[in-house]
Amino acid sequence: MIPENHPRRESLIIREKVVKALEDGYLAPQGLIAHGRGECFDYLIGEKTQEFAMKAMKAAIAMLLLAKNPVISVNGNMAALVPDDIVRLAEEINAKIEVNLFYRTLDREKKIEEVLKRAGAKEVLGVGDDASAVIPELFSERRRVSKKGIYIADVVLVGLEDGDRTEALVKMGKKVIAIDINPLSRTSQMASLTIVDNIIRVFPKMISLAKEMKKSDKDELQKIINQYNNKEILKESLRFISERMNQLSLSL
Ligand code: ATP
Ligand code: MG
Repeated sequence: MIPENHPRRESLIIREKVVKALEDGYLAPQGLIAHGRGECFDYLIGEKTQEFAMKAMKAAIAMLLLAKNPVISVNGNMAALVPDDIVRLAEEINAKIEVNLFYRTLDREKKIEEVLKRAGAKEVLGVGDDASAVIPELFSERRRVSKKGIYIADVVLVGLEDGDRTEALVKMGKKVIAIDINPLSRTSQMASLTIVDNIIRVFPKMISLAKEMKKSDKDELQKIINQYNNKEILKESLRFISERMNQLSLSL
């Protein structure tokens, strides 16, 4: 039992979700470590969505709404943290959902498919033989993707992703939107668009933005993308962390 007044109650509840996913057999043990890395950065950004993430999310939704074949790539951590929101966002932006695991096993893929179906997904790509297309230049099991999904996608949304994988997708000419709370990770640096925030907070905000921005015309959406500069956003996030640490050091 986590006490009601625990200062990190929310974070501990989320941690239990991740542990449950491990026990249920669809999260690899390495996923726990990846989660811990993220928790640390959440401390640094102040455990709330900052302006740099808001700007990135707006551009991300514009990109997803203009995409021909958008895909949300799902791994164990994402399925553990935001299963319902993945399905809701996919509906809002008309995206396909594809399971894509670093430590790929058929059992884990099927379990994630089950989690997503329970959350309301009608179709889940990338499970078993469906992941038959090969992404070149990648030396992990992730090189296998669905011909109906990531293989033909123009925009791919990934969360808690690995750097090599992100790079491979970018090299294939895809626009990669990464949700990664660490602005220094290779994923954050490689992605076409980086949302530096906790995925738990990102999904609900992206769903609201999608509902709103769907009403905009294509030119308006394109303008948002044209004005967006990912390097500036990464710089902004690093400056924010550094200034915040400085402020905190002064207040001790
Ligand atoms: P890279 O491979 O991109 O260099 P890495 O090896 O440091 O990154 P991985 O374990 O491959 O890290 O990927 C997990 C990434 O997801 C990390 O950058 C981590 O900070 C981030 N992350 C973890 N939890 C969350 C979360 N709740 N929301 C957003 N990002 C998260
Ligand atoms: Mg990595």
